[in-house]
Amino acid sequence: MDLRKIARSLERERCSKHNEKPTATPKRDSIEISCCCESFRKKIANKMEFEIAKEAENDIKKAFKGW
Ligand SMILES: [Zn+2]
Repeated sequence: MDLRKIARSLERERCSKHNEKPTATPKRDSIEISCCCESFRKKIANKMEFEIAKEAENDIKKAFKGW
């Protein structure tokens, strides 16, 4: 799974209230998010979970392709 790719897609989001972009820093097995307000942080965290689940599914599909 490429957390950097997910972090980049999270950084394309923009807060509807403050018009600010978040900072998403990929760590070893998670992504650190910092942004302007709590409600936007929650939105980004939801998107992050969704993207990670999607990537995990892709990883599983890739693993089974070789069989
Ligand atoms: Zn905000």
